[in-house]
Amino acid sequence: MNSQYTVAKFGGTSVADYPAMQRCAKIIKDDTQVRVVAVSASAGVTNHLVTLTQQKADEQQRLELVQAVLDIQDAILAELSLDADLAQGFEQTITEFKTLAALPALSAQQCDEMLSFGERLSSYLFTQVLRNLGVSAQRFDVRKVLKTDNRFGKATPDIAATAVAAHKHLMPLLGEHVSVTQGFIGSDQYGQTTTLGRGGSDYSAALLAEAIKAKSVHIWTDVVGIFSTDPRLCNKATPIARLSFDEAAEMATFGAKVLHPATILPASRSGISVFVGSSRDPQAGGTWIEKEKSSTPGIRAVTQRKNQILLTLKSPEMLLASGFLARIFTILSAYNISVDLVTTSEISVAITLDNAQNASRPELDQACLEELSEFCQVTVENNLTLVALIGSEIQLKQHEINLMQVLSDFNIRLICHGASKHNLCFLVEQPHSDHVVQSIHARLLETA
Ligand code: ADP
Ligand code: ASP
Ligand code: MG
Repeated sequence: MNSQYTVAKFGGTSVADYPAMQRCAKIIKDDTQVRVVAVSASAGVTNHLVTLTQQKADEQQRLELVQAVLDIQDAILAELSLDADLAQGFEQTITEFKTLAALPALSAQQCDEMLSFGERLSSYLFTQVLRNLGVSAQRFDVRKVLKTDNRFGKATPDIAATAVAAHKHLMPLLGEHVSVTQGFIGSDQYGQTTTLGRGGSDYSAALLAEAIKAKSVHIWTDVVGIFSTDPRLCNKATPIARLSFDEAAEMATFGAKVLHPATILPASRSGISVFVGSSRDPQAGGTWIEKEKSSTPGIRAVTQRKNQILLTLKSPEMLLASGFLARIFTILSAYNISVDLVTTSEISVAITLDNAQNASRPELDQACLEELSEFCQVTVENNLTLVALIGSEIQLKQHEINLMQVLSDFNIRLICHGASKHNLCFLVEQPHSDHVVQSIHARLLETA
């Protein structure tokens, strides 16, 4: 049985500076069910850390990147006086950061160590902001409980080990104070720091909620919920009050950046409701994602994910042969490549991969391409965007609207529909994709 507790997560813009942190602290003070808070790195910090791990920077540039990170933290620190316990840990973490940043080359494990500093630092500062508001708060190192494998850059959580560790280390604290912990990071079985992939703090919050058997997760960000499309792209986008787990998972997977794609997994498997709202405007409401028996049929949102790679693998051997697809997917899985869309023809298969900008780990490996080339002709196309229509019971003819007619206005490179009734996805050339999303939103989601 789940408790009444809530895990709250604050994203990068919500902890970007001192006034933003104060707004978040007020939200925690006003909601006594929140016993665990997961914070992201302050906005901009993780991007600097990613650049530091890429080793393109010379010594001078590395120093500048370190300074850029310190400047963001110092601006917040200027408004605070850290209690002795927090000051000591904060200073120690800064020293570790500078030491690692001085190294010219980092191993995969050290890259994750580097990426972890943003969340480690912001959590010290946010604990103090909470204390200043009269909330009893302690910083908690999430690496004690969020256990993962050692696939650095995109580690997979070990759910059972996380539950055991949370039971031992975190649950006893829930009645005593608010535990302020870090999103995005974890540790492997040897205690080495790992990360869950960019935007992973949402996922951390859901995993922690599952581990402590919380009732809900509150994701506080810079928008008042999940919208019918990215509100930055379309000013007529409207917030969606309720989404089913399935719809929310599809939206997150296909590009609504507001949620990390894996966030819904722990929530739906453990029956935890997810709320998404704005830490700038907590009274404005937001989106509730819950288990719903039936969601009204229809299209509810359009999303896009840029920087997609289309791999086309062609071989006459595929004709009437069995095992060709198995061979391809075995290789992709050996390289830990996750595939999105798949379409096949008589002698070829086309698949799409996510090549997100600023990712902490490249998706496509040269060695993998070489291995595939041994038995098929491989073509790689870049500069594509995956556009997805998300909803429930999506059909090509929706009431009076013929989707194929709407889509016929665009130059579509590949289309997928049928595996799930919750999406219809297609690829378009990236320079046109904003326009495609805006037009589809206007045609299908805006009422006159
Ligand atoms: P955080 O730092 O809080 O994790 P993110 O930048 O990761 O925040 O996600 C919030 C952003 O997601 C919003 O500012 C918005 O531009 C973008 N976004 C993309 N698609 C959607 C959508 N369908 N609904 C709401 N926000 C969206
Ligand atoms: N700080 C990490 C990132 O920027 C994780 C997160 O914010 O969710 O990707
Ligand atoms: Mg995010």
